[in-house]
Amino acid sequence: MLAIGMFNCIRRFRSVRRLKDGFLIVRCPYCGNLSIARAGSRTRSCSFCGKRFSISSVNVLRYVANAREASELTRRLKKRLRV
Ligand SMILES: [Zn+2]
Repeated sequence: MLAIGMFNCIRRFRSVRRLKDGFLIVRCPYCGNLSIARAGSRTRSCSFCGKRFSISSVNVLRYVANAREASELTRRLKKRLRV
């Protein structure tokens, strides 16, 4: 169920990756922490471990239109993924 959801959102991300508005929920490849990046940015520093990683379809979990939605969704995903 989760795998299907992630596959769908990766496909969705590919179609919206050129947008400059909106936010991406990304997962740090080093520690697994979820954080929010602006759509259109190419790298992100992890707020937990401080390492910089590039943003790609591999570690983007969701695309959302606004910051409030992004932080709510991040909280929900953290609970579900137990990060
Ligand atoms: Zn990290």
